[in-house]
Amino acid sequence: MNFDFTEDHLMIQQSAKEFAQEAIAPSAVERDIKAEYPAEIVKQLGELGFMGMMVSPDYGGAGLDTLSYVLAMIEISKVDASVGVIMSVNNSLVCYGIEKYGTDFIKEKYLVPLAKGEKLGAFCLSEPEAGSDATNQRTIADKKDNFYFLNGIKNWITNGHSADYYLVMATTDKSKGHKGISTFVVEKDFEGFGRGKKEDKLGIRSSDTSSLTFENCKVPAENMLWEEGKGFNFAMNTLNGGRIGIAAQAIGIAEASFEAAVKYAKERKAFGNPIANLQAIQFMLSDMATKVDCAKLLTFKACALKDSGKPYFKEAAMAKLYSSKVAVENALDSIQVHGGYGYVREYLVERYLRDAKITEIYEGTSEIQKLVIARSLIDGK
Ligand SMILES: Cc1cc2nc3c(=O)[nH]c(=O)nc-3n(C[C@H](O)[C@H](O)[C@H](O)COP(=O)(O)OP(=O)(O)OC[C@H]3O[C@@H](n4cnc5c(N)ncnc54)[C@H](O)[C@@H]3O)c2cc1C
Repeated sequence: MNFDFTEDHLMIQQSAKEFAQEAIAPSAVERDIKAEYPAEIVKQLGELGFMGMMVSPDYGGAGLDTLSYVLAMIEISKVDASVGVIMSVNNSLVCYGIEKYGTDFIKEKYLVPLAKGEKLGAFCLSEPEAGSDATNQRTIADKKDNFYFLNGIKNWITNGHSADYYLVMATTDKSKGHKGISTFVVEKDFEGFGRGKKEDKLGIRSSDTSSLTFENCKVPAENMLWEEGKGFNFAMNTLNGGRIGIAAQAIGIAEASFEAAVKYAKERKAFGNPIANLQAIQFMLSDMATKVDCAKLLTFKACALKDSGKPYFKEAAMAKLYSSKVAVENALDSIQVHGGYGYVREYLVERYLRDAKITEIYEGTSEIQKLVIARSLIDGK
C-alpha cells in the first residue's frame, strides 16, 4: 500500500487547483445567483484536457487514470460543484460509456470531439416514472429499416440544454422488461428531439438540468451502443464509475466547507478570543477533517480497484454514500462555525450546503447505494 501521489498526480492536482482559483472562482457566486451555465469555463476545461481525462489518446483523450480524474474533480468542485457535475457527466458517464461500449464508428464520430471538449455530452436514464427504479423505462424505440424511432420523456438531465450528444436509454422490447432496454447516441439536431424548461434548483444552480422530449426522434441504427437489450447493464456499469466522480464532487464540497470553517474560526473573536480556541469549535473542526480523510480513502480505494481492472461496485457505492453524507454534514457544521454569517450569501458556506444535498440524490440515492452495498455483501456480487 502506497499513500504517496506520483509526480503526475500532483501536477494534475495543481493545474486543476490553479484553473479553479483563477478561472472558476471569480464568477461562481454570480453564476449561482443567476443560474447561469459556465459556457466559457467548460470550453477552457476542454482545451486543458479535463473533459476526456480517462479516454485513450487514440480518441482524443488525456489517457489518465481514475485517481487523476478524482484529484481534478475534487479541486474543481471545491470551488464550484456546478462545474464539477458538468465535468463529471462528460468524463465518467458519457466518454467512459462510449469508449467501453461503442463501435469504432461511434468512437470516431462522437467520442473524439467529446474527449477533446469540442462537444458536450449528457446521460439520459431518468424519466418521470423511472428514477431509483430505472427498469421502469417508458421511452420506446421502434425499429423501421435502418432507423429507430424514439418516443418518450427524460427527466432531470444534467447538461440537458447545453449538450450536443445524448446517451439515451429506451425500450426496444417491452416483453423483456429491463432486458429489453437499449442505449442510443442522439444528436441535438436529430429530427423529433426537444428540450424542456430548465429546472430552478436548490443547488448546483450553474449547471443546467432539464427534461427532454422525443417525438418520433429518428436515430440511425448504427448509433446503438453495445447491443440491443444491453441498455440497462450499460447504465448500471457506467453509473458505477460515475459514482466515483460524484464522490469526488462531494469531497470537494466537504473540504471547502472545512477549510472555510478553519479560516473563519481563526479570525472570529468571541469573549475576547478567537473561537478557534474554544474546544466546542475544535471538536467540530477535528470531526470535519477526519471525515474528509475517510471519504478520500474510500474514494481512492475505489479508483485503485477500477484502474487495476478489479470489481468496484461495492467500493464505488460506499465512496459515494459516505462522501455525500460528509459533504452535507461538513457544510452544516461549517455554517454552525460561522454562526449568523454562515446563513447569508456573503460567505460561501450556505452555497456549499445547497450544493452538497444533490450528491445524496443523483447517480443513485443514498438508499440505493445501501442496496448496492448490501447486495454485494449478501450475494457476493
Ligand atoms: C439536479 C439533478 C441532476 C440529475 N442529473 C441526471 C442525469 O444527468 N441523468 C439522469 O438520468 N438522471 C439525472 N438525475 C435524476 C436522479 O438520478 C434521480 O432523481 C434519482 O435517481 C432519484 O430518482 P427519483 O427522483 O425518481 O426519486 P425516487 O426514485 O422516486 O425516490 C424517492 C425516494 O424513495 C427512495 N427509494 C426509492 N426506491 C427505494 C428502494 N428500493 N429502497 C429504499 N428507498 C427507495 C429514494 O431513495 C428516495 O429517497 C438528476 C437529478 C437531479 C435532481
